[in-house]
Amino acid sequence: MNNPPSTVTLTVHGIGTPIRALEPGEDDVWISVRQLEDVLDAVSGRTDVRITFDDANASDLEIGLPHLLKRGLTAQFFLPAGLLGQPGRLTDDGVRELLAAGMTLGSHGWAHCDWRQLTPEQVPDEMTKASRVLADFAGRPVTEVSAPFGSYDRHVLRRLREAGATRVYTSDTGRAPSEAWLHARTSLRSTIDIAWIDQVLDGRPSLPRRARNVAARTVKRFRG
Ligand SMILES: [Zn+2]
Repeated sequence: MNNPPSTVTLTVHGIGTPIRALEPGEDDVWISVRQLEDVLDAVSGRTDVRITFDDANASDLEIGLPHLLKRGLTAQFFLPAGLLGQPGRLTDDGVRELLAAGMTLGSHGWAHCDWRQLTPEQVPDEMTKASRVLADFAGRPVTEVSAPFGSYDRHVLRRLREAGATRVYTSDTGRAPSEAWLHARTSLRSTIDIAWIDQVLDGRPSLPRRARNVAARTVKRFRG
């Protein structure tokens, strides 16, 4: 029996020297230009790897875009719509530049908050308004989302289904069936090197590690 096609989805946060004060722990997912280049070189020509960017950092446009274009790659940019134009983030014009260059958008909510902690008043902005604002930029519906901090539970997933999300990206690591609605991604971290890249793209984690990943995902999906 053939396995269904599966995909590795990588997540870039920030690249190069940060130009704003980072949140606690954010430097863990801030990579160098060299690390980005190594990843993109390894990904070039692979149809089983997707590249995503989260958080609308200015480095998406200033560093990420030229390195993608140089290799003929495209990526999907998950933007916290309410943070556009803030220091160190993409501006409205920056978003238009990404789109003009053939990149696609997804929603990363409105204000980059933990969706498990939302008050009922925050839900419409986070799960509806953000996608609508981004759709105005894109000129087409934006129905794919990535969960801030990779944080979700069954309540979050129910609200996203109700809001019409057609795919939800997490940070649960590992390959995902290409058409999965709940879609694991792997964050690029400040510690990555070529060996790590090879392992993520082609290696299979050890069985105990895989079992742990499955157990963790199952807990997240049903908790709350
Ligand atoms: Zn984020």
